[in-house]
Order: sequence, then structure tokens, then C-alpha cells
Amino acid sequence: MTVDPQKVRIEGVYEQRQPGYFMLRVKVPGGVLSSEQALKVCEIAERFAGGGIHLTTRTSIEFHWLKEGDLAEAARMLQAVGLTSRGACGGAVRGVSCSTQFSDDFPRVQVLARKLHHHFTQNPHFENLPKKFKIGVDAGYEGARHLIQDAGLVLVETDGESARYDVWAAGGLGREPVPGFLLEERVPEERIILLVEALVRVYKQHTPKGKRLKHLLKEIGQEAFRKLLREEIGREEVLVISDGFQKRLTPQTAAGRPERVEARIFAGELKVGTLRRLAELAARHAAGFMALTPEQNVALFLTEDASAIEATQALAGMGLCGGPSEEQVGFRICPGNHECRMGLAPTRDIARDILKVMGPEGSRLSWAIAGCPNSCSQPQLAEMGIVTIKLVKEEGGERRALFDLYRLEKRGAFGKLIRQGIGLDELLQSVSAIG
Ligand code: SF4
Repeated sequence: MTVDPQKVRIEGVYEQRQPGYFMLRVKVPGGVLSSEQALKVCEIAERFAGGGIHLTTRTSIEFHWLKEGDLAEAARMLQAVGLTSRGACGGAVRGVSCSTQFSDDFPRVQVLARKLHHHFTQNPHFENLPKKFKIGVDAGYEGARHLIQDAGLVLVETDGESARYDVWAAGGLGREPVPGFLLEERVPEERIILLVEALVRVYKQHTPKGKRLKHLLKEIGQEAFRKLLREEIGREEVLVISDGFQKRLTPQTAAGRPERVEARIFAGELKVGTLRRLAELAARHAAGFMALTPEQNVALFLTEDASAIEATQALAGMGLCGGPSEEQVGFRICPGNHECRMGLAPTRDIARDILKVMGPEGSRLSWAIAGCPNSCSQPQLAEMGIVTIKLVKEEGGERRALFDLYRLEKRGAFGKLIRQGIGLDELLQSVSAIG
């Protein structure tokens, strides 16, 4: 191998579990993808990634099964449609996510997500960070994803073109999940880049290598953290980020409420043929854009003259909406040890086992399973969350995965640990006992 795995991380590349293969992660700011971009993604997946992609819970795209010699060409093809993988892995500001695609204000927050993406991506000031730095922009508190961001921005007030955001900081999951704290309330939009940039700079200067912002906060406390931030902001100049004209990508009808249809994609595993058809539907009914959702699905926001019935029928014909399919249960699933080097369990297989034993009550809940304590599928935010915590050796030498089970008891908080260190049989029994 000639590429240095550590060096290529900043390009959005991780070594896969299978030696000689790589994962390439692509930033999709706010999760909004044009039909043209989707078609290019299909081309790359067909040439290099076995004809499929993985949709992540941070509304990014991952290609698996790339060989070393494919990486540069895939990156070049992404650039041709304005996409990049730079900073999607490693110590950088990661892809800026939105998780409130079904809010009326999604068209507004996606614009800020793209501005933040452009400000922080490919800029050496915001690379070589101690670890990852995650930004999320949301149109409201639904889903509570502001709690797991290094900088979580929640739209709380709009007046014409002006907007204000609550800013949360220093949250994160992983082995030690820590909810973010409310740093500032009702921050005008024109101060957001200034404030988030100061957070990134404080993080870069004061946090040991390999640690997240939550570590710094724990070490020095809120008061010292705020002081560092004030000093940093004092050195910055205010950035004007006003627009000359409307820059929203997904339609907003005169009534203020576009109709939406959603394609449900099991485990975010999307085949090229399906994505091509979604790109066609987006071009015909949704002004040429689709939104990747944190539930690993694809949403289309229909234009006023589009037919919701026609779009829904098309999705139903593809088996992506309607009907009592097991795949209609909301289930966020990370790649686990199917592809990920960190993975301890085959997450997609286990999810299918769980769906088989799930009763009607369970199927009304939202689920998430993570293949290791990194918790990429955000199990602590699902109504029922499963984290693979470790492997233990059996008498015959075989290894068996153990799981923690979480249940959400209170909106706006992390789920509560209700079973700890259980095996797969016990996990399935617990699931079947729901309802
Ligand atoms: S949770 Fe673990 S196994 Fe799953 S994608 Fe993240 S690092 Fe990989």
C-alpha cells in the first residue's frame, strides 16, 4: 500500500475492515443533494463501489469497497459536481448536518448549513484539529440532535429574512456520551460564523490530541471555557453573511408548506438503480433536489405543480414507501463489522433479527443500532437504542457480542440505559417483550 492511512483521513478516507479496501465519505451540506450530483454519485458507485452507497445519520454519503487506486479519480469526479470528501474524516470540521428536514423552516436552515460548510471546508485553519468537530443546524428542537454536536445551532426565531439561533456546545456520543450545554441564546444569524469559528479555534488551541471539545469543557469547566471563547471572539471581526437574493434549494410554496414524500431506505443501503430513479423523480417533481435525512432515508419536497399522488405511487412502485414492509420501521443502522474496522457486530443482520421478533408496539418506536461504542447511528437519541459494547470469548474460543439497550424516557435528553451487557438472545427477548 502506498497511501498513508493517517494522511488520507483528512480526504474523507478510512481503511475498511477488509484489507486493501477503503471507505470514502462525502460531505453533503444540510443533506441537500441535486439530481446531477446524485447521478455522479451513481457513476462513482458503479465504477468503484460495487454499485451501492451508504447514507449516514449525519446526512453524508459513504462509498465502500474502493481500492487505493480509485481514490483520486473518485475525488476528482466528486469535484466535477461541487462535492468534496475533504474533512469528512479525521481532525477537521466534519460535514454540516441538518436533522429537521420535515420542518417548514428547513429551506432556511439549509442555507446556513451550506454557508458554514463553505467557511470551514478545505481551510487549513480548521484542519489538523485534535479530533473531529461536528456542527449541526436544525430548524427546531425535535430529535434533540443539538445535544450531540460540538456546535449545535437551533433556529428559534424568524422575522422576514432575519433569524436567531440558540447555540449549544461541547456535546458528543462515543464511549462517554455528554449532552451539549446552552452556550448562548437567540444569537443573530450574522454572528453565527463568528461564534462557531471561535469555538473551533478554542478547541484547536486548548484540547489535547485525540480528544473532543467535551473533554476540554470537562477539564476546565464552563466559566473558564466561556472566558477562552470571549478572548477569541475579541480578536475576530464580525462577518457579514447577508445574501443578495434567495438561496434556498428545496422548494418553499407560497402557502409556506411544500408537500413531501419520503423514500425509506433500509439501513441507508442505497443501490445505484434506486438512486437514479430518485434523481429522476427529484428532477420532475422536486425542483431537482432531494434531501438525505438523519433516518438514512431520502425526502423529496414537491413543487406546487407536482403531483404528490404520482410521486408517492412511483416510490411505492419501487417498494420505498407504503405497505406493511418490515423496512418501514424507523431503524438507524451503522455499517458495523460488515465494513467498518471498529465494528464488533453485524448490525444489518442483527437489525433484521430484531425486526422479525418485534411486536406492533415496538414497530411504532424509532430504533437505532451501533456496531461499537462510537455510536455513529445515535442510539442514545432513538426511542430504543442498541450499542454493541464489546466482544467476549466463549469456551470454544468463539467471540460473542454484548449489547447495551437504551430507552428514551424524556424528550430532549439521552435515552436511559435499561439493560447492560446482554447477549443477542437476551436482546431479542427484550425486544419481543415490548408491547
Ligand atoms: S458505530 Fe462503530 S461500527 Fe458503527 S460505523 Fe461507527 S465506528 Fe463503525
